Amino acid sequence: MSSTEELRAELADVAASLRAYLEQQKDSGATGIPRRRAGATATATTTAAPTTTATTTATTTATATATPTRTATATAAPSAAPGVYQPPSPDWDAPPDHAPAVAPAQVATAVPARPLPILQEEVAACTKCVLAKTRTNTVFSRGNPNAQLCFIGEAPGADEDAQGIPFVGRAGQLLDKMIGAMGLSPENDVYVCNIIKCRPPENRRPEPDEVAQCIPYLHEQLAAVKPKVIVALGNTAVGTLLGTKVGISKLRGQWKLYKGTMLVMPTYHPSYLIRPSAQQAEAKKHVWEDLQAVMKELKLPVPPKK
Ligand code: URA
Repeated sequence: MSSTEELRAELADVAASLRAYLEQQKDSGATGIPRRRAGATATATTTAAPTTTATTTATTTATATATPTRTATATAAPSAAPGVYQPPSPDWDAPPDHAPAVAPAQVATAVPARPLPILQEEVAACTKCVLAKTRTNTVFSRGNPNAQLCFIGEAPGADEDAQGIPFVGRAGQLLDKMIGAMGLSPENDVYVCNIIKCRPPENRRPEPDEVAQCIPYLHEQLAAVKPKVIVALGNTAVGTLLGTKVGISKLRGQWKLYKGTMLVMPTYHPSYLIRPSAQQAEAKKHVWEDLQAVMKELKLPVPPKK
């Protein structure tokens, strides 16, 4: 075969694989392919997401869920304990005065989902791993299950375990400030959850088998919520969602894909930002850059630099 013929054969192979992939995506319910903004430094690579899928008994789409509600007012950022939070720029403390309406998410996933309240009930009764023995409450989600933006952390801490709501401690207060700085309401405009639903004792990292037992719940949760963008907070969330061992400092700021359909922005976990360190100020700047990229992707107005 001449080199031109070889090239042609290779191109035909690529086209056939692409066609097969698109057909498979269509069969499994995908309605589109996430696009990249022109000129963005994004590398929406096809990093494989874990292949675990939740078993489901119904294909009903999610209805509004009885997500625990909190008493904070819509766009007001809760005040952090004194000395806890140093904003990287005035932007974080002074959210813009717009509060964009959240359009229904438009990205479909391959995993059929049960209604979230049913899934939440199942999680509440879960005894699949040892964490069931030490937890006070399971921690399912907070925010709006119809949001187009989802934040995913690692695991509940002591405050979350006590209240049964994710991100209500110090890291959560900072997360709410970050969301507020994006011009969004933590209650109405985003959905917040974790990789695992029970607190690991002493706030240790979740063990791989604990993640493996719990992750089908998150897959199903995401299939129901169908966020357009996921912000993955820290190594555990990023590594689990993207199936990678590459560290957060390398991956942050780069667009990735979860299950080939949902955009993921990896960034630092808010706990890292409240821990005093030489890198803290730099990390906060990076997180704000990452969140601005998310805002651009979602066509939210990015507040002007002050
Ligand atoms: N850290 C997390 O990753 N999740 C929480 O809910 C709280 C702290």
